[in-house]
Amino acid sequence: MPAAAPFKLLAGNPAGARAGELSLARGHVVRTPAFMPVGTQGAIRTLSPLHLEGTGSQIVLANTYHLSQRPGEEIVKKAGGLARFMAIPNPTLTDSGGFQVFSLENKEISEEGVRFRYEVDGQSTFLSPERSMQIQQDLGADIAMVFDECLPFGSDRAYAEASVERTTRWERRSRAAHVRDDQALFGIIQGGFWADLRRRSAAQIQDIGFDGLAIGGLSVGEGHTNMCEVLDWTLPHVRTDQVRYLMGVGRPLDLVEGVARGVDLFDCVIATRHARGAALYTNRGRIRLTDARFRRDMFPVDTSCGCYTCKNFSRAYLHHLFKVGEVLSATLGTLHNLHWFATFMNTMRQSILDGTFETFRAWVHEVYPEDTTPKPVAGVVPGAPKPSGARKGPRRR
Ligand SMILES: [Zn+2]
Repeated sequence: MPAAAPFKLLAGNPAGARAGELSLARGHVVRTPAFMPVGTQGAIRTLSPLHLEGTGSQIVLANTYHLSQRPGEEIVKKAGGLARFMAIPNPTLTDSGGFQVFSLENKEISEEGVRFRYEVDGQSTFLSPERSMQIQQDLGADIAMVFDECLPFGSDRAYAEASVERTTRWERRSRAAHVRDDQALFGIIQGGFWADLRRRSAAQIQDIGFDGLAIGGLSVGEGHTNMCEVLDWTLPHVRTDQVRYLMGVGRPLDLVEGVARGVDLFDCVIATRHARGAALYTNRGRIRLTDARFRRDMFPVDTSCGCYTCKNFSRAYLHHLFKVGEVLSATLGTLHNLHWFATFMNTMRQSILDGTFETFRAWVHEVYPEDTTPKPVAGVVPGAPKPSGARKGPRRR
C-alpha cells in the first residue's frame, strides 16, 4: 500500500531541524514545520472561515471526543465530512479522543477500551480503538490518530510499562480497523518519562507501520526541560523519512526546540485561548492588552505584523474592546495570534532553508524565555492522591 502521507525533505538535517512538505491524499500539501490551530468543537472559536483564511494557518485540528458527543459523527458524515461541514478549504486532523477520556476522573480502563461518562449529559459511553477509528473515519479528516493511553505526568514505572504494552496492542487494533484510503493514520509513541520505555514504544509502533508518527504524553505539565529530554530519548529512534508530530505543544520556546530536534507538526490551544484572554504574541514578546499602559496606545499590536487586526486597529481600541467584553476583542485577538504563529513557523522554516536556523533559535530564547520547571496539571495520576481543584471535564491542551 502506498504511503498516504508522503513526506519530502527539502532542507536541513534529516534528524534535526528540517523543512519539508507533507502531501495528503486529497491533494493538500502542508509546508513544515507547521503549527495547527485547534477547533475543538468544529470551529476556531470566534473566527469565521473568512478570517481563518487570512491567518496563513494550513491545517486545522478538531477533537473526536467533543464531536462524537455533539453533533455526533453521523451528522458530520452526512454533511460531507469535517472540512465540508466547517466550510473550510484547509485539510484537517482529528485526535483519537484518548487524551480527553484519560483526563476524566471517572473512567474504567480494560483491555477492550475505556468506559466513561460524557460530562455534558452524563451518558455512559465506551471508547475503544475500533470505535475511535469508526468515529474518525466518519468525521473524515485528512489525518486520523490511533487510540492510545496518554500517561499522566507522575505515573509510576509499573503502570507506565503496562500502559505502553497496552497502547501498542490498541494501536495494532487501530491500524486493523482503519480502512479509508483517503485518510492518513498516524501512530503515537508513548512511554511516559522513562528513556527505555520511550525507546521500546518507538520500536513497537514503527513495527506496526503508520503514515506518520506522533510523540504523545507530553504537555501534561512536565515543563520545557522534561519535554526536551523526552524528545532527546525518543526522536533518535524514529525513522527520518516520515512526518513527526508533537501533540499538544505550542509555546514559542517549545516549538523552536521541538523543531531543533526534528519535529515537523505541532498543535496547541494556547494561540487561541490566550487571545481570548487578551494575551497576544508579538516579535518583542507576549503582551497583555488589558494592561493600563495600552489605554492611549495608538500603535498596532505588533508593528511588524501584516494581519487584518494590526493593519486596522490600535492597541487602544483593542484595550477598550477587551475591557468592555466585546466579542470582537476575541475575534481580532485570535486573528492576530494565529497569524503570528503561522508567520513564526514560516520564518523558522525559511531560516532552515537559508541555513540560519541557529540565529532564529537564539532569538526565540531571547524574546520568549519560559519558566522551564514542571507544573503538574490537576488530575489523574493513577494511584496518587487527587490534587485540590481537579477539573471535572476533559482536559484541553
Ligand atoms: Zn497582527
